Amino acid sequence: MSKFWSKVVHGLTPYIPGEQPKIHSLVKLNTNENPYGPSPKVIAAIKQFADDTLKLYPDPNSEALKKSIADYFKVKANNVFVGNGSDEVLAMAFQALLKHNAPILFPDITYSFYPVYCKLYDIDFKVIPVNSSFEIALNDYLIPNGGIVFPNPNAPTGIPLTSNQIETFLKKNNDSVVIVDEAYVDFGTESVIHLTEKYNNLLVTHSFSKSRSLAGLRLGYAIGHRDLIEALMRVKDSFNSYPIDRLGLIAGIESFKDDSYFKNTCQKVIHTKINFVEKLTGLNFSVLPSGANFVFAKHAAVEGKIIVSKLRDQGIVVRRFDNPIRISSYVRFTIGSDEEMDSLFKALKLILSA
Ligand SMILES: *Cc1c(COP(=O)(O)O)cnc(C)c1O
Repeated sequence: MSKFWSKVVHGLTPYIPGEQPKIHSLVKLNTNENPYGPSPKVIAAIKQFADDTLKLYPDPNSEALKKSIADYFKVKANNVFVGNGSDEVLAMAFQALLKHNAPILFPDITYSFYPVYCKLYDIDFKVIPVNSSFEIALNDYLIPNGGIVFPNPNAPTGIPLTSNQIETFLKKNNDSVVIVDEAYVDFGTESVIHLTEKYNNLLVTHSFSKSRSLAGLRLGYAIGHRDLIEALMRVKDSFNSYPIDRLGLIAGIESFKDDSYFKNTCQKVIHTKINFVEKLTGLNFSVLPSGANFVFAKHAAVEGKIIVSKLRDQGIVVRRFDNPIRISSYVRFTIGSDEEMDSLFKALKLILSA
C-alpha cells in the first residue's frame, strides 16, 4: 500500500497465475501447456526472421496474421482481432463490449480472470452457479444482462457445451454480447466460430498458448462481427498500437500453415487423456467429462490438498483451487506426454496406497 497508488489500484484483486517453477526437473502439469512444443516450422521461421529488421516497428494491425487466421476459418480479415495472448484480447473485449447498464453474467466456477477484469474496468457482474453436475446451464442466463462470458469447454472443470446448445441460447439472447472463450476448444470440443456469421453479438476468443503450444510467445485472437472487432480495435489503438511483435506475427502465420502438426499433436493429447481418465477412474477418482487438455478429478477418500502436496514431494506439479468451496477437493491434471502421465500415475498409486 502506498499513498501514491490510484484509487483503482487500491481496489484491485489481481489474478494469480499457476506457478512457473524455477526447478526444471519437475514434471509440470499445472498450467495446461502443451507437452509437444510448437511446430518445428514455427521455430525455424522465428530464427529466420530474427534479424536486423527487428529495429523496425511491426505492422500495427498484424494484417498478414489476421489474413491467415481468416482464411483458415473462412471468415474475412475484418472479422478477426489479434492480441498479445487471449488474456489481452479478453481484457479488451471486457472493456469494449461488456460495460453496460445491467451486470454481466458468467459462471460461478470458471476462469478466475473474469472477475479481475470486472474490477479493473469497474464492470458490474453476477455469477450464475453451474448445476449440480458442474455444467453451465445456459437457460439460467436468460435474464436481463449487460453481456455474457463463459469458456467452452469451461475451466477448470473441462466440461464442454455443444455448438447446438450454444446456438439455442444465442437465439434467445440477442440483445447483449456473448463471449465464448474457446481457449481449449481444440482438444475435443465443438467450436462456435461458424455461428459468428449468423449472430452479430457473438465473439469467440482463441489462444495460441494451449493447442498451438506457443504460451511463451503470447498470441491470441477473437472472431466476430466486424462491428465487434472494430470496438476491440478502438480499445487496442487507445492502449498499445503494437501488441504483436515481428516474430510473433511470423510464428502465428507458420503455426496456421502447419496444420498437420497442429492436428496430430492435439490428437495425441486427446488420446493420452482418454487413457489417463481410465487410469484415474481405476484409482477411485471421479473425473468430470473433459473437452480440454486437462481433467478435473476428485478422489473418493483422499483430499485434493493432500494429493497435490504429496505429488509435489515427488516432483510433480498439478493445480487445485480453494474457491469456490464446491471444487476445493478436486485436482486439475494437465495432460502431458505419455511418459509424464505414466510418472504421474505411478506417483498417484504410491500416494493412495500409503
Ligand atoms: C489459458 C487461458 C486463457 C488465456 O490464454 P493466453 O495464454 O492469454 O492466450 C484464456 N482463457 C482461459 C479459460 C484459459 O485457460
